[in-house]
Amino acid sequence: MTKAQDYVETVKQTIKQRDPEQTDFQEAVFTVLDSLTPVLEKHPEYIEANLLRRIVEPERVIEFRVPWQDDTGHFQVNRGYRVQFNSAIGPYKGGLRFHPSVNLSTVKFLGFEQVFKNSLTGLPIGGGKGGSDFDPKGKSDSEVMRFCQSFMTELARHIGPDLDVPAGDIGVGGREVGYLFGAYKRLCGFKNGVLTGKNLTFGGSAARTEATGYGLLYYTQSMLKAHNDSLKDKKIKISGSGNVALYALQKANELGATVLTVSDSNGYVYDPNGINDKIVQQIKEVERGRIKEYAQQVDSAQYFEGSVWDQDIDYDIALPCATQNEINAQQAELLVKDGARYIAEGANMPNQTAAIKVYQDHGIYYGPGKAANAGGVAVSALEMSQNSERLSWSFEEVDAKLAQIMHEIFTKSEKAAQEYGMDGNYQAGANIAGFNKVATAMMVQGLV
Ligand code: GLU
Repeated sequence: MTKAQDYVETVKQTIKQRDPEQTDFQEAVFTVLDSLTPVLEKHPEYIEANLLRRIVEPERVIEFRVPWQDDTGHFQVNRGYRVQFNSAIGPYKGGLRFHPSVNLSTVKFLGFEQVFKNSLTGLPIGGGKGGSDFDPKGKSDSEVMRFCQSFMTELARHIGPDLDVPAGDIGVGGREVGYLFGAYKRLCGFKNGVLTGKNLTFGGSAARTEATGYGLLYYTQSMLKAHNDSLKDKKIKISGSGNVALYALQKANELGATVLTVSDSNGYVYDPNGINDKIVQQIKEVERGRIKEYAQQVDSAQYFEGSVWDQDIDYDIALPCATQNEINAQQAELLVKDGARYIAEGANMPNQTAAIKVYQDHGIYYGPGKAANAGGVAVSALEMSQNSERLSWSFEEVDAKLAQIMHEIFTKSEKAAQEYGMDGNYQAGANIAGFNKVATAMMVQGLV
């Protein structure tokens, strides 16, 4: 074992011993640490400075009680979190997730990924994440509002436009950001830079709603171009039907691809003629319905229960946009068998480690979430810029900046991989390029 490998192993062991139950967090960290071993070979000063041990430790973890009253008058309690992971290159930045599966491990893994993702955008934002095990599904608007108000009553004291700027994630969209902002304003006054993903009427950015999905397609475009390929007439499988999936679908259609599937937690719809984004938008955003309604409205579509990744059908590109760990090794094998050559992650960590190994073994080009889905947080950072200068940019201007940022993220990752002799390994490239900036900042700031 080299000194670098030995060091990485020690850091892994420490994490396993300290937080044995945080498996999602471990998985995210170990993948990054493995990619960084060659960087440490080149930079022994990072080992000297114990930099990895410092970078895997969140700067601050906040855990709090969220009491709220449901429509029947009962008092309910959920748990709230905010992990302020790393502020080396800017204020903590990252979304809030409301989902019953949220626990400290989830929030830590997402916060850790966010540090590298935010660095890759090239914009001055550190990494953080938060959320709650509250389930907005089936709750009334007033219940969601009361929950958001209670959540913000505690969170407000920990955030600020130059300190920590939350946004949305799974279960937190425009409606929730609006309620959270209203609650913040009553406590601390109108500071529109304190949250992003806001409504356009009070400092939201044009194209923020579309940004993650559009950005995913811009990234995929760059990845295909690197292999003299394009999206035109490609067959794509998308999972999910939330904000990321919807705008990925819309942009894919606009760029001349055919999207065969979208899904939700119960099942998926398959339409060989291509999924119509306007119908999905109506069902999901306006009616807040289930995706199976699509098959009831469109003759050529069929609805199936279960995972879309178990469906055996030929296609070219996979865009998982649902949630973490949705693709296991067996499903990755099926993807290879079905002829897919590219996969880019709209969700955060939708592929299990074993699935990624399958892609590597079969020469499938794999774009990791921290690069491919960085468009959302990139436009969040542009929203912060607009709030600071008290101006709003046009949709076209923000969209053009987004496309440029996504293209640069791909190029940075591609170059970093080449520099370390791992041509085409966009995962290692993203980890290395994201790490480099944070590492330099931490080194020059002394022991932080
Ligand atoms: N939740 C998104 C992400 O995973 C966006 C975060 C943000 O805009 O701050 O990157």
